Amino acid sequence: MKALSLPPRLLMGPGPINCYPRVLQAMSTQLVGQYDPVMTAYMNEVMALYRQVFNTQNTQTLLIDGTSRAGIEAVLVSCLEPGDKVLVPIFGRFGHLLAEIAERADAEVHTIEVPWGEVFDPEQIEQAIRKIRPKVLALVQGDTSTTMLQPLEHIGAICRQYDVLFYSDATASIGGNPFETDAWQLDAVSVGLQKCLGGPSGSAPVTMSDRFVDCVRQRHHVEAGIRDPHHKDASGSRIRSNYFDLPMIMDYWGDERLNHHTEAASMLFCARECAVNLLEEGQQAVIERHKMAGVAMLAGIQAMNLAPFGNLKHKMNNVVGVYIPMGVEGEQIRSEMLNTFNIEIGTSFGPLKGKIWRIGTMGYNARQDAVLHTLQSLETVLRRAGHKLSPGAGVDAAMDVYAKAIA
Ligand SMILES: *Cc1c(COP(=O)(O)O)cnc(C)c1O
Repeated sequence: MKALSLPPRLLMGPGPINCYPRVLQAMSTQLVGQYDPVMTAYMNEVMALYRQVFNTQNTQTLLIDGTSRAGIEAVLVSCLEPGDKVLVPIFGRFGHLLAEIAERADAEVHTIEVPWGEVFDPEQIEQAIRKIRPKVLALVQGDTSTTMLQPLEHIGAICRQYDVLFYSDATASIGGNPFETDAWQLDAVSVGLQKCLGGPSGSAPVTMSDRFVDCVRQRHHVEAGIRDPHHKDASGSRIRSNYFDLPMIMDYWGDERLNHHTEAASMLFCARECAVNLLEEGQQAVIERHKMAGVAMLAGIQAMNLAPFGNLKHKMNNVVGVYIPMGVEGEQIRSEMLNTFNIEIGTSFGPLKGKIWRIGTMGYNARQDAVLHTLQSLETVLRRAGHKLSPGAGVDAAMDVYAKAIA
């Protein structure tokens, strides 16, 4: 057999991205036993680290083993009982995913939508809450499908006023844009590693408020450490997933260490290094670095006679949508970027399929050299495909953004 061998790609799409070096190193760490005090101490440390990442005091801050949608599914199947009302404001593909997962939990799903490239006003959400009176509001913060960042800071107070549990999927945005679990009064948040946190996909950090924990706990009954399969003292119906049963997962991460799954230790090491990376560099500094890369990439794109997608006032720092210009074939450009320059940029789905590319500057790749290499390569490929641009303008515009920041 030939040795495992992959090309040295620069991943400038909407995720996954190249990992931070210390995360790569963590992946080759030898294992210890599941209940080894060394392992459980690292589990506790990871909980403390992610409290900082999420900006929360929530005791129940832990990892769900699986990709980001494992976190989404754990939150939704654990809190939604059949017939419960959930409101999902949809502004991109991932809103549809939240609605689909809630439907599979047999919740009564209500959706409101804005066109792709826009976000919701708090008033629109309040109006829908007043009309529907849901148990849960499930709202994406950053949707990579549209590059938009939904402002969340005024939604939590509305949810408290109407006694609604407020859940957000912040997978695409956390680490590269501000996120405040407690200050914004969120009850549950789930994320993943493969965007601005700079890790591989496969672990989904989650945090839960006491209100949220009470809601999921009443679906379960524990007696002397043994779960009653008929849950006769629990008032709610039984959670329909064992793997995503949050009370069981909390008991595994808690002092009792009740056996549930075998923690995906290698992913836990990665998640730890992602958090340490963020916190050592400083959350604010990392957000600024993402902002700078995003502004530079946007300036470069515009200087290359290309038009960005969506309402730029609400664009995430870490990804930009770029209209494929007239006369060029979007997929051919992407494949030439990949095969000739080893640079991956993203395609799009749904209403944007074939219309825009998505270019990310996330985590380890939110760097000046990564931005410049991408712009330079894209310029060459586009120019050779017949797109009119002034040579050098894209890279110069991006370099000017960085130069101005230093001046
Ligand atoms: C990228 C992304 C995900 C990814 O989900 P996976 O299960 O890890 O593929 C989830 N939610 C949002 C908002 C995303 O942008």
